[in-house]
Amino acid sequence: MKYDNLLEQIKDRMPLKRFEHTKGVATTAIHLAEKYGEDQDKAEIAGILHDVVKFADYEWLKQMIISEQLDPLLLSFHHELWHGPVGSVVAKNEFHFDDEDILQAIRFHTTGRAGMSNLEKIIYISDMIEPSRSFPGIDVLREKAELDLDEAMISCVTHSITFLIEKKQPVFPDSFHCYNDLIQKRGKVKE
Ligand code: FE
Ligand code: FE
Repeated sequence: MKYDNLLEQIKDRMPLKRFEHTKGVATTAIHLAEKYGEDQDKAEIAGILHDVVKFADYEWLKQMIISEQLDPLLLSFHHELWHGPVGSVVAKNEFHFDDEDILQAIRFHTTGRAGMSNLEKIIYISDMIEPSRSFPGIDVLREKAELDLDEAMISCVTHSITFLIEKKQPVFPDSFHCYNDLIQKRGKVKE
């Protein structure tokens, strides 16, 4: 890959398994960017950095959300969501990427949102379907990713929301907004 150097820089910030996942996300994102006419360099960089603070201390993540004035609603939801928004701040401040496409893709990879860019969708989808992932239904998601970016995004966010609902876990509003936005744009809302 083109940004092997960047990959090396983040290697010791996560366990090997997560590092393999990161490489998988970057590779999948490059592939989808090529397929859907998006910038492959941005896809690779966002893929490499998307989980950069996944293993950071929760208290530190919390303080970052407060000090960086990120969405305060995040603090009422599971800490698993925090590494996206905080990761985008770290990508900017520590790794000096100031491209908004890249930063937004990192920022919203844990929740999705209404009005996602194609790069945001690519990172969200790649995070879910990269080669080391395995869960029931993943084959369908992988097939959809090859056919239609929006349909794949709908299926991926539906999978995430359904998974949380089945476990009786709260769903962050941006995920519902993401779902509603895509479904409404698809023009299949009746009545
Ligand atoms: Fe993540
Ligand atoms: Fe990830």
